[in-house]
Amino acid sequence: MLKQNIKTLNQFLPNLKSNGIQNLINGNSIDAISGEKFDNTSPVDGSFIGKVSEGDSADINNAANAAMDAFDAWKKIPHQERKKIMYAIADKIEEHADEIAVLESYDTGQAIRFMKKAAIRGAANFRYFADKAIDAQNGLSTPDTHHVNYTMRQAIGPVGIITPWNTPFMLTTWKIAPALASGCTVVHKPAEFSPVTATRLAQLAHEAGLPKGVWNVVHGFGETAGKALTEHEHIKAVAFIGETTTGTYIMKQGAPTLKRVHLELGGQNPIIVFNDADLDRALDAAIFMKYSLNGERCTSSSRLLLHKDVYGDFVEKLKKRVSNIKVGHPLDPKTEVGPMIHPTHQEKVLSYGEIGKKDGATLACGGGKPANLPEGGAYVNPTLFVDATKDMRIAQEEVFGPFLTVIPFETEAEAIEIANSVRYGLTAYIWTKDVGRGHRMAHAVEAGMVWINSQNVRHLPAPFGGVKYSGIGRDGGEYSFDFYMETKNISVALGDHDIPQLGVQ
Ligand code: NAD
Repeated sequence: MLKQNIKTLNQFLPNLKSNGIQNLINGNSIDAISGEKFDNTSPVDGSFIGKVSEGDSADINNAANAAMDAFDAWKKIPHQERKKIMYAIADKIEEHADEIAVLESYDTGQAIRFMKKAAIRGAANFRYFADKAIDAQNGLSTPDTHHVNYTMRQAIGPVGIITPWNTPFMLTTWKIAPALASGCTVVHKPAEFSPVTATRLAQLAHEAGLPKGVWNVVHGFGETAGKALTEHEHIKAVAFIGETTTGTYIMKQGAPTLKRVHLELGGQNPIIVFNDADLDRALDAAIFMKYSLNGERCTSSSRLLLHKDVYGDFVEKLKKRVSNIKVGHPLDPKTEVGPMIHPTHQEKVLSYGEIGKKDGATLACGGGKPANLPEGGAYVNPTLFVDATKDMRIAQEEVFGPFLTVIPFETEAEAIEIANSVRYGLTAYIWTKDVGRGHRMAHAVEAGMVWINSQNVRHLPAPFGGVKYSGIGRDGGEYSFDFYMETKNISVALGDHDIPQLGVQ
């Protein structure tokens, strides 16, 4: 099967190698105006994938102008037509599922077993928001004695979407599908480490019948292309996914043009396991939620808070399972953890092995680089630290790799204190059979999303987002429309209400 996946990859690689990865502006695939390009390499072994057009403020300006010009027609397009185009995009994504899966896997290091589902999820995002397009304008009726008031939502305008390198294809569809359903036009700035599927996705959307200028892609670096996008006057809102520090720049850069911003940022999420939990399922969930997707997942449970009564046994089982996780070539279907996105990120994750030891936690397994994997690949061993305390850096900072920190606790109050002791607040996972306790904990934990006795199962109408340094705003279902649209109030007099007369003697 690895051979088959490499064969599929080799159908697409030569084109990327010779033609590179271009920007897509007003329906045209083009190089950056400056002619500058940067190399994109695979984390599998550091090999060259293709040259990427390095956009800057001039390319962003062209893309924002194209998005502005296309806006009026796109926002007025009949719902049924918009829905038809979005369904056609979903169909195209599914037709190209194998291509998307292997390219995403090779470009990001994500294991193919998870990337196979990325295209299906991407298509589902488009179909879900296509179906909701008809509701996007819906509002409230707030009648008064002499007036009828009603609200409606209207597309805010061209929007900027800035995405990170972790599962970039899925995250891009999640942001762009609701923007298009709202009637917004888009300028997308993908992460520089993972440019491949972004251009391909926009090309497929055009093949599916999306009008020119509605969806533009400009590659480049955050400090140049990304910054210019957040500062452009035509861009009315910026949906950003990335690191917390970058999120603060987005707000600052967007302030002079009063940008509406939605920030989905970092996390250091707890999974809290009580002694009455279904421990076998809790073990499966703790491992899956930290070691799937290479641990490069904002919602991953990176701190395991374990009740002291079950601590010893649970840790033993955990150790066995984590040591067994198969690290390897991401296109091998047996691989569970592939290489980190880039050697710089590999170094960061490895450095936390040293930090954990220095902090005084116990390295139960992993740490370091695995043997027998391709030279130049950004691989790390799945790592487990136990007997940690809440103030250690490995319990406070976002490692963003296959790296789990285990902390013991005794009481509910102590679990809450540990859970809330970080600056982040994205997700929390609670495992207990005591219904009251599950709810008490969910109410007390500082997080935007809480799962009880469950791994992270995304429900598209439900709000997605974090509190504290994990972000501002929510998306999903109606929440996405509230972000990409303005609410307008319209007041109609029912009859002859009082109008004070001025200038009448
Ligand atoms: P990053 O912040 O380094 O980069 C994200 C994007 O921002 C990239 O496209 C980058 O080019 C751009 N960028 C950088 N500086 C910029 C600037 N000054 N102005 C405009 N754009 C700029 O993040 P990353 O390393 O690519 O991604 C990993 C991070 O993303 C992690 O912290 C992770 O937790 C977070 N993330 C959060 C969520 C969520 O839903 N909360 C989801 C996925 C990832």
